[in-house]
Amino acid sequence: MPELPEVETMVQGLRPLVEGETLLAVEAHDPKLVHVRPALDLPVEVRALARRGKYALFDLGDRLLVIHLRMSGRLAWGASAPEGRVRLALRFPDGAVYLVDPRRLGTAEVVREFKGELGPEPFGDLSWLPTALKGSRMPIKLWLMDQRKIAGIGNIYAAEILFRAGIDPRRPARGLEPAEVRRLENAIPEVLQAALAEAGTTLPDGVYQGPNGERGGFAVELSVYGREGEPCPTCGAPVQRMILGGRGTYFCPCCQR
Ligand SMILES: [Zn+2]
Repeated sequence: MPELPEVETMVQGLRPLVEGETLLAVEAHDPKLVHVRPALDLPVEVRALARRGKYALFDLGDRLLVIHLRMSGRLAWGASAPEGRVRLALRFPDGAVYLVDPRRLGTAEVVREFKGELGPEPFGDLSWLPTALKGSRMPIKLWLMDQRKIAGIGNIYAAEILFRAGIDPRRPARGLEPAEVRRLENAIPEVLQAALAEAGTTLPDGVYQGPNGERGGFAVELSVYGREGEPCPTCGAPVQRMILGGRGTYFCPCCQR
């Protein structure tokens, strides 16, 4: 968290506020991020703001400012600093983008070229998927969360995608039947688009918010994530939780085989 729908929501919200605008100053309030400002010639125009996987990319011409929000980061817009642990402020004439990040795991760096080792985006033509799955014995849930295999999916949406596709999270990627792979091909973009349409998922902890403090509305549409013991929306059996790859994993033992 945040995953693709949350990062995309933040980027879409910030884009009209920063694209074509002049980045006047960069203030690091966290020693971990003090190297960002000296690497920039300021002021500089933001030519574009884009997302790749779970990264936000500020295109500054010959440099990119790359922000990765990790577990608890968010990008907020305002005239003054929002509540919470502000680690970085990007100042523009009409306001600032604040990196708010209670756990301080997010990163910001200035590079000439983005070199994140990311697999393809999970939208559009997914015809590469069957071949990619064939090459891996990883449990399918961990495969979906591996950013080198496919970009943008984390713990929440991996659980929801596998529920929609009716696949047990522990199944080895290369052991899926062709019909199951086709269900996965459909479920990946369907779940992510549905979450994007709701501006992402704000869990009860309230950590994720949009750039103006908006809550994402997808939490109420989660079928299994965070719902241990609650009835499966399809069959009514209690949703179960297990640990897979060190992460809490929610699934329906009846619907997911
Ligand atoms: Zn079920």
